[in-house]
Amino acid sequence: MKENKDIELDQSFRDSVATIDEKGHRRYIHPKKPKGRLYNARTYASIVYLIIFFSLPFIKIDGEPFFMLNVLDRKFIFFGQIFGPQDFFIFALGMITFMIFVILFTVIFGRVFCGWACPQTIFMEMVFRKIEYWIDGDAAQQRKLREMPWNGEKIRKRLTKIVVFYALSFLIANFFMAYLIGMDQVKLYIHEGITAHFGTFATLLVFSGIFFFVYYWFREQVCIVVCPYGRLQGVLLDKNSIVVAYDYVRGEPRTKPKKIADTEKAGDCIDCAACVRVCPTGIDIRNGTQLECVNCTACIDACDAIMDSVHKPRGLIRFASDKNIKEGAKTKITSREIAYSAVLALLLSVLAFLLATRDDVDVTVLRASGAVYQTLQDGRLGNVYNIKMANKVRKEKIVTLKLENIEGEIQVVGDTLKVEGEGYKTQPFIIKIKPEFIKQRKTPIEIGVYEGDKKIKTAKTTFMGPAR
Ligand code: SF4
Ligand code: SF4
Repeated sequence: MKENKDIELDQSFRDSVATIDEKGHRRYIHPKKPKGRLYNARTYASIVYLIIFFSLPFIKIDGEPFFMLNVLDRKFIFFGQIFGPQDFFIFALGMITFMIFVILFTVIFGRVFCGWACPQTIFMEMVFRKIEYWIDGDAAQQRKLREMPWNGEKIRKRLTKIVVFYALSFLIANFFMAYLIGMDQVKLYIHEGITAHFGTFATLLVFSGIFFFVYYWFREQVCIVVCPYGRLQGVLLDKNSIVVAYDYVRGEPRTKPKKIADTEKAGDCIDCAACVRVCPTGIDIRNGTQLECVNCTACIDACDAIMDSVHKPRGLIRFASDKNIKEGAKTKITSREIAYSAVLALLLSVLAFLLATRDDVDVTVLRASGAVYQTLQDGRLGNVYNIKMANKVRKEKIVTLKLENIEGEIQVVGDTLKVEGEGYKTQPFIIKIKPEFIKQRKTPIEIGVYEGDKKIKTAKTTFMGPAR
C-alpha cells in the first residue's frame, strides 16, 4: 500500500467545472444549509459588513460624504477628502498599493477575502441564500420544489422569491447609486420623482435587473467564470498559502464506517460527502485546492460536525497550507512574502506622505502662452501669467501671491484670487519688475502661493525680458 503522503488523488475533476454537466448545461447547486462555529462567525461578520454598507452613504464629514466614487464627474471621496482628476497620481498609487495588498494577502491567506468579505459572497450567502432557505426550505426541499410540476405551492413560493429578491436588488441598486453620486442626490431624485429623472430611473432598473439576475440565477458563476480575482488564484497561491484544505494525509484512504472493520488501514474520512453537500460552488474539497473554492469554510463546519459524531479530532478540513499537511510543517514566512511586504510598506509610506502633504487647493502657475514682455508706463517690465486653481473642498478659498526670489509687484487682473467650493478657476495676473533686476532674457522666478499665512506652494516659472 502507498504511504498516505504519496497518495495521488484523481485529477480528472480539473477537466471540467463542477456546475456544468457533460453536455455543457448548468448544474444548479442546492447547497445544504451550513451550520457551525465558522458559519456563525461569518454571520456576525456579515452583519457588521451590511451595517457598514447600508450606513456609509449617510455619513458625512464637513458636509461631504464619507465615501463616494463619482466616476461620471471624476470626483472621489475617501474619509471625507475629495480627490479629483488633479489627484490622479495619488489615486493611481492608491490602486497599486491596494493591488499589492490584495496579492500579499492572497499569497498568505489564499482566497479568504472571497468567503468572508467580498460583497458578492456576503449578499449571496448571507442575505439571498438565507431568504431562499426561509422561502423554499433546505437543499432537499429546494430540489423537490424544482422537480415538482407547477402547482399552487410552487407558484406561490417562486412568486414570493422573485418579489423579495427583486425588492432587495432594487434596494442594493439604490445604495450602489448612492455610492456613485451621493445619498443627497439620490434623495433629491426620489423627491423630484420618476418623470423628472427618467434616465436615472431606467439605469436604476437596469442595475436592479443585473443584481436580480446574479442573485436569483447566476450565483456562484460570478466567482467561477466572471471574477478576475478568482482567475488570479492559480498564479498567486503556492504550497505555503493558507487555504481551506482537506488533510489527505489523515483522511485517506477514505473508508465508509461499515467497511472500516474489513480494511487494513482506514483514514479518518468516512466518505459521507457532508462537505460536498454544503459547498455553494459544488466542489469536493477532498480533490485539493480548486479555482471554484471561495474559502467560505462551510465544508470545515460540516466535517467538524461529522468528526464529532465519529469521535475523531476536528480539523480534517481546516485552514492549512499544502506544506502543513504534506510535511506536518509549521507555516513559515517565505522570501516572496517578505518581498511583497517590503514593496507594500514602501508604497504605503509614499501614499501616507502624499496624503499628509496634500493641500485643499491645487494651484498651477503658467506664463501666458505666446506673450512677450511689455515695458509699462512707469518703466518697469511686465509679464502676464495665468493661475489655475482647483478647490478640493466645499468652502470657498482665497489665495494670495508673493514674489519670493526677486523684488517686484504682482497685480491680479479682476477679482481677488477666489475659487468657489469644489470649483476650478483660471485667472490672469501681471508681474511687474524693474529692468535693473532683469539680467537675462529668461529670469527664473519663484512665486509663493499663500492661503492666509500658510504657503501652499512655490511655483517656479520664468520672467521674459530684453536680451542683454
Ligand atoms: S465531511 Fe469530512 S468525513 Fe465526510 S466526506 Fe467530507 S472530509 Fe470526509
Ligand atoms: S470547498 Fe469548502 S470552502 Fe471551498 S467553496 Fe466549497 S464549502 Fe466553501
